[in-house]
Amino acid sequence: MPKELVKGDKKYYQCEECGLWYTDRKTAGKCQAWCAEHKSCNLEIIEHAVKDAPEA
Ligand SMILES: [Zn+2]
Repeated sequence: MPKELVKGDKKYYQCEECGLWYTDRKTAGKCQAWCAEHKSCNLEIIEHAVKDAPEA
């Protein structure tokens, strides 16, 4: 399961494999599943990652 972070009124989800952040849990879950299985990132998934990683 992706790590969840709440910042203000926004929620972020982090792929624990590659460390990228998403605003959508489903996409973060897809990324994590892909990363764990392939040990690399799927460009079609990571293009949905947030550019500015939220500070915890
Ligand atoms: Zn990932």
